[in-house]
Amino acid sequence: MSFRMLPTLENLNLWKPKIMSFRNCIMCGDEEKENLNHLSSCKKLEKTWKEIENFTIKLIWITTEDKLQKDYKIQDLKKLLFGTSHKEAIKTRCLYMRGLFDRLIFNQLKQVFTRRKHISEIINATTFSIQECFYQLVWRERCEKVIE
Ligand SMILES: [Zn+2]
Repeated sequence: MSFRMLPTLENLNLWKPKIMSFRNCIMCGDEEKENLNHLSSCKKLEKTWKEIENFTIKLIWITTEDKLQKDYKIQDLKKLLFGTSHKEAIKTRCLYMRGLFDRLIFNQLKQVFTRRKHISEIINATTFSIQECFYQLVWRERCEKVIE
């Protein structure tokens, strides 16, 4: 399933306005359209997103630790994959959900990993982890709220 076609309230409202009359996020109650961008930055989902990021970092760390430079730390990997600011974290979440990868991150990975194969493994694992966690944690919780 494509994340672009995710039946967010904004999309449902667009596709079936008679059935779905509202399109704002039901998690936070702010007057924000529920779409991928908002689901990446919604204040009510911030704690869940932090868990998703930490889980993903640990996963990548376990599989790449032996391929990394000696003084490279897990915090460095976190900075690399999710940036250093809140704004950057939101931006990368959006990209990973769409299956995209920031060129800047790619170039930084090239400096840390020598083999191209390892870089594509990291890219695939990161994207998979973010998308899977999004479904299991964010989307499921949101769906339960819609049904209520
Ligand atoms: Zn919200």
